[in-house]
Parts: sequence; structure tokens; C-alpha cells
Amino acid sequence: MSDEAVDPPVMPSADPLLDVERVAALRVVRQSTSQPPARVALRSTVIDRLIGAQSLLPREFRLLVVVGYACPYPADHRAGGAVDLGVQVDGGVETSSWPATAPPGWDTVAAALTAAGLVFPADAWWHWYPAIR
Ligand SMILES: [Zn+2]
Repeated sequence: MSDEAVDPPVMPSADPLLDVERVAALRVVRQSTSQPPARVALRSTVIDRLIGAQSLLPREFRLLVVVGYACPYPADHRAGGAVDLGVQVDGGVETSSWPATAPPGWDTVAAALTAAGLVFPADAWWHWYPAIR
């Protein structure tokens, strides 16, 4: 089975790929084990929806963008159309690694992301991409 059969839809290439670190509403946290990329980038549609989700969250919740555009990842990451997320709650410990189960409070985060037009696959709570509307 090819990757194309299981990957979610990829954002149109006309959607600009933007540097997430220039977006004040979002915070970038790189995985400590990964080689730092030159920048963390996402398609503008994804950034817009993350900003929308962040605005829906209680003040103590901060979305963490861990992986955006990335070469050795599934096709939606290679296109900048998917994001791997963590969350920081009340300035506490950052959750930027992905255990099998979502961290406490993730239901609140997931509800905001869903309301902002993002979806995730059943087997990866951290991986989000735009719902087709
Ligand atoms: Zn992912």
C-alpha cells in the first residue's frame, strides 16, 4: 500500500509556507532529540487555524508547535500541511513528546483545535491537519 493511500489530504501548494516563529500567538518547541531545522514552517491555512484554536483555549493553555514542515515525515508534513503539537498548561512542564495517550487537559486542546477546523488521525493525538471544508 502506498503512502498516498493513508496520508491525509495535503494543502494546496499555492498556500504560502510561513515561518511559525514569526507568529506571536504560537510557540515553537523543538524536540530535544531532533536536529534543529533552520526554521519551523507551516502553510498559512494551518497557522491561521492554530491561531484560532489558541484564541479559543483558556489562558493557561499554550499550544506548542513541535514539528511543521519536515522532510523525513509523512507527505502532509513534507508539504507543510500538518503539524505535531504539544501543550503547556499554566506555565508548567512542556509536553513536546508524544506518549501513547494524550496528556492531561488534552481534551480541552482537542476541542479548540477541532472547532478551529483541524482534525487528527485516531492513532496520533499530536498530529493535526486542516479538515476539508
Ligand atoms: Zn505529524
